[in-house]
Parts: sequence; C-alpha cells; structure tokens
Amino acid sequence: MKIQNITVLGSTGSIGMSTLDVIRRHPDRFHVFALCAHSQVDSLFAQCLEFRPEFAVVRDAQLAAQLAELCRSGGLLTEVRYGVEALIEMSAAPEVDSVMAAIVGAAGLEPTLAAARAGKKLMLANKEVLVMAGELFMHAVREHGATLLPVDSEHNAIFQSLPADFGRGLAACGVQKILLTASGGPFRNTPLADLSAVTPDAACAHPNWVMGRKISVDSATMMNKGLEVIEAHWIFAAPPEMIQVVVHPQSVIHSAVQFADGSVLAQMGNPDMRTPIAYAMAYPERIAAGVEPLDLFKIARLEFYEPDFERFRCLQLAYDVLREGGTAPAILNAANETAVAAFLAGSLPFLGIARLNEATLNALPARPEGSLEDVLAADAEARLFACQAIRENSFS
Ligand code: NAD
Ligand code: MG
Repeated sequence: MKIQNITVLGSTGSIGMSTLDVIRRHPDRFHVFALCAHSQVDSLFAQCLEFRPEFAVVRDAQLAAQLAELCRSGGLLTEVRYGVEALIEMSAAPEVDSVMAAIVGAAGLEPTLAAARAGKKLMLANKEVLVMAGELFMHAVREHGATLLPVDSEHNAIFQSLPADFGRGLAACGVQKILLTASGGPFRNTPLADLSAVTPDAACAHPNWVMGRKISVDSATMMNKGLEVIEAHWIFAAPPEMIQVVVHPQSVIHSAVQFADGSVLAQMGNPDMRTPIAYAMAYPERIAAGVEPLDLFKIARLEFYEPDFERFRCLQLAYDVLREGGTAPAILNAANETAVAAFLAGSLPFLGIARLNEATLNALPARPEGSLEDVLAADAEARLFACQAIRENSFS
C-alpha cells in the first residue's frame, strides 16, 4: 500500500485534531506532509514533535520564527513557513496526495481552491468555501480532476447513501429528496424571550457535538444548517427544493436520501467526527476510527421535527441567498463571520447575529459570482458594512 501524504489545513482545530487522531492509528497508511495553523504555536509544535511533518505553517513571520526555534531545539527537520502563500503551496505541492481542508471560515478559501486546482484528493470540512464560491470551486474540482470527499457529517452521510455515480444527476438516480438532519442546537426549546440574554459559553455548549467556537455559535443560530443547505446544493447538484432540513435532536442519523421507490437510505453513528474523517481518508476502504460502536438499545428513541424558520431566521436567509445566487451567499457568509466574532467578543447580542446578517443582505446588492476577485470583493464589502453597523451599535 502506498502511504498517503497529507496536508492538514487547520491542524490545531477540532477537525484538525480528530484528523491527526485517525492518522495516529494508521501510521502504515498516512504520513503528514504539512501541518498548517494560525497562531497556536505551542500546540502546533507538539503536533510537529509527534508527526514530524516536512513543513509547518503559521500566520506570520514572528510566529514562524518562534516555531522554527522550537523545532530546532527539539531536533526537528520541519521547515517553517508563514502566510497565505505558504498555505497555498502546501495544498498544491506535488508530493501531496490529499488535503484536509479544516480551516474555519473564509480564510480557507484560497488554500482549499488551490488543492482543487492541483487535482488533489480533497477532504472538505471548511464549508464556508462552498458557500462563498460554490460555482468557482466545483468548476475547479471538475476541471482539474480533484476528488472531493465531504467531511461535514451530514454531507458525508449523504455521500455514503447515494449511488457512486450520483454525478450523472440526482433525478436520474431516482433521488427525490435529501433529508439534511440538524440537532437544533442548544436553544431548540428555549423560550424566545430568553434568547436575548444568551452568552457565548451557553451558545457554544452544543448538546451532542464538541466543535470549534464559530461552528458552535452557527449551530445555535442554525446558520450552520443554512450553510450546509448551500454546501449540499453544490456538492450534490441538488436544487434548494430538494433539500429538506429535518430536526433530529439525537444526532444519530447524520442525514438521509429519499428515493423514488419509497426507500430512504441513511447513515447512522455516534456523533464523532472521526467517522466521516476516517471514511474520507481511507475512501473507498473502511478503517478503524476509534469511535464507539453505536448502541441502538442505549439510544432507544429517535425523534424528528420540522424546522422553525421564525426562531431560526438564519436558516431562512440561507435558502433565500441560495435562490438568489451570485455573490449573495458570500455576502451572508461574511456578515455572519463578522457577527459571530462580535458575539464571541461580547459586542453583539445573540439575536443581533440574525439581524445583522439580514441587514447586510438588504444593504448590499448581489452580483454574479464571476471570478475569485469578485467573491473576495463581495466578502470585503460585507465585512466592512457589518463592522460599521456593529460599531454604530445598531443591532444591540
Ligand atoms: P476550529 O476553530 O476548532 O479550528 C480552526 C482551525 O483553523 C485552527 O487550526 C486554526 O488555527 C485554523 N485557522 C483559523 N484561521 C486561520 C487562518 N486565517 N489561517 C490559517 N489557519 C487558520 O474549527 P473547527 O470546528 O475544527 O472547524 C473547522 C471547519 O470545519 C469549519 O469550516 C467548520 O464549519 C467545519 N466543520 C467542523 C465540524 C466540527 O465538528 N468541528 C463539523 C463539520 C464541519
Ligand atoms: Mg455538519
């Protein structure tokens, strides 16, 4: 078996660490070529010591000097780089077989796109890439023969439930609906009046999953499910009306596909990201991921509810921008990243997130998606508008 050389974008994050845990279990299959993170030098150094990658990447020159010194003193040969250019290089390097795209947010767009353009096996967790630039990204995947494997648990479940040749069209494969499950987050049943006082820690306390803070807040607003509707649209070429969100508080069914003959195929498992990560890494084989087997007797009950679009306004906004097209999803994504960062920093109330997202969409016209530059311009414009609105305190 040829050893797979992997670049991990976002190695110090929740998905990055789960990826390294799967790699740790299979040293005969995987080798880490590059570890890329933002500013957590100490945890990146610990990862370098364990996985001995050829390269490590951090945000800037100063952090790179710190990490390089640590590597030298630890006797490591790891070469340290910094900045977006280095991320792009690590995604596209000829030695690399596969890339785990697990940076959070728009910062992942360029390196992930570079992996697609280099025709890599691309394991995609960074859903914001598809939300911002779905058309551009999917075009790059097709044009350069990249293999796109969804890591997001729902999309991984849908991928597992579809026939291998789904690329010829969902309708041609007899697909009627994609059933995208959602836990509903920590505030599914919280009285609406109490939502205005929600704190960042309460929003990040997800009932079933342990994740990074940004996606945890997105789960609490259900923006995450909205982003996933757009993600499903692009990965599976599914029109919005074919994607049905199903609230399923136990997070055991990770999503399902309904077919013309009445069959519904689903993928189930404990809520542990190492399952979809291991699936993507070993595809089409199956390998151990360190995940507890599912105990149906212990679970006993599975529930399903329709989503509440009033309570979770962000979910509605996502369907709206998907139908509108062009740069509208990129504008929503940028507004949301700005709003979530402000909420986590204590300068925007929880309910202000949806309000700010909506106001940004209302203020800025969508344009055709066009080039990467057009997408980045829409992203920058939306961030500017949202930051200003937060400073003027119009959403408190
Ligand atoms: P996280 O916050 O735990 O980790 C983010 C990683 O990205 C860190 O390693 C950080 O150093 C790196 N990073 C952040 N900004 C960067 C920048 N500007 N340049 C380079 N690196 C940067 O996030 P996470 O929960 O692991 O999520 C990562 C992505 O995966 C997100 O897009 C999220 O939506 C998606 N995802 C996560 C989960 C989950 O269970 N955590 C599930 C599905 C999808
Ligand atoms: Mg998900």
